[in-house]
Amino acid sequence: MNKVMLVTGASRGIGAEIALLAGRSGYKVGVNYLRREDAALAVVAQIRAAGGEAVALQADVGQQAEVAAMFKRLDDTLGTVDVLVNNAGVLAMFRVDAADETNVLDVFRANVFSAFFCSREAIRRMSTVHGGKGGVIVNMSSVAARLGGLGGGSAYAASKAAIDTFNLALAKEVGSEGIRVNAIRPGLISTEIHAVQGGIAKMEQMAKIAVPLGRAGSPAEVAEVALWLASDAASYVHGSIVDVAGGR
Ligand code: NAP
Repeated sequence: MNKVMLVTGASRGIGAEIALLAGRSGYKVGVNYLRREDAALAVVAQIRAAGGEAVALQADVGQQAEVAAMFKRLDDTLGTVDVLVNNAGVLAMFRVDAADETNVLDVFRANVFSAFFCSREAIRRMSTVHGGKGGVIVNMSSVAARLGGLGGGSAYAASKAAIDTFNLALAKEVGSEGIRVNAIRPGLISTEIHAVQGGIAKMEQMAKIAVPLGRAGSPAEVAEVALWLASDAASYVHGSIVDVAGGR
């Protein structure tokens, strides 16, 4: 395979597992991160140690100029993007009556604006209308989009509901231009994102009761679905949202 996958928020958690599995599957991988350069470089090093190609790409995906520069760096290093995984995201806990504009904007920048900015750059390269050869976009939603999240997580839940709808709308917009668009809704997955709501151990305890499979999921279990959606095995899957939530 000679395909390039860009995974946003790939220094840790779900994104890191997607990047590593992509590397093992033969993709050249763009490993985007915000602050944790050490972690992003470790992901790149693992991919390279296994014989793959990867590059670390620092950018705040909620800032359009940084996103444009990131795609240019990807063009210049690994080549034109074939698969974009809009994975980067943040969880913030605050009551609506305590919210200010910055709280809300920070969540929507990282979780929603990022999907617009990254998809825009990807479509400009992938769409047959722009002379591209097609591609795949995978959007990372959350079961919070349909469950409302935990108390205090309204901005996060609303941002993920926006991703569900963005996914549907984008699928209509670019499906006939060679671009497949799908989303994943993870449930409770063991990552550092849960630090703001008591940590991984507390979440895993909750998962034993709240999740029909009786446990939290692993980032690797989400990565498998992302790689399947990216592959030709999912060639007629479009505008779909796949729950990876243990039945929750
Ligand atoms: P995580 O472990 O907290 O990792 C977040 C990743 O996103 C990190 O690589 C972080 O980079 C990056 N990031 C955050 N803001 C960014 C920005 N503005 N620009 C670029 N990168 C940014 O999170 P996770 O649990 O793997 O979550 C990944 C995705 O899955 C998110 O969209 C999340 O909402 C979704 N999700 C997670 C769960 C779950 O239970 N874990 C459930 C449903 C949905 P740095 O390392 O540099 O900070």
